[in-house]
Amino acid sequence: MHELSIAQSLLAIVLDEARRHQVNKVTKVAVKIGALAGVVPSALTFSFDLIKEGTKAAEAELVVEQAPAQGVCHACEGEIDMSRLVDQCPHCGSKDIEFTGGQELYVDHIEAE
Ligand SMILES: [Zn+2]
Repeated sequence: MHELSIAQSLLAIVLDEARRHQVNKVTKVAVKIGALAGVVPSALTFSFDLIKEGTKAAEAELVVEQAPAQGVCHACEGEIDMSRLVDQCPHCGSKDIEFTGGQELYVDHIEAE
């Protein structure tokens, strides 16, 4: 399962941070996941809850923040909603557009005691 391996890398990052800052327990882990990252948030929290047992993050709540799919047009500098497949700028019709968000996947912040 795709989400399980992502949960494992997230947990590794969290435990690494916990060790570095010498915390007793992690209480919250906020992750940012782009709408196009191909991750099902509920599957990710389920996987995370399975593997966190017995670690400093055993009581941590995984909070998933979804980042919208966005793009920008190089011709008119307009912002574009990329949640649907678009191949040209809805403002000026240019095809010189680029993704700026929606594919990210990272630990945004961690709360600990
Ligand atoms: Zn444009």
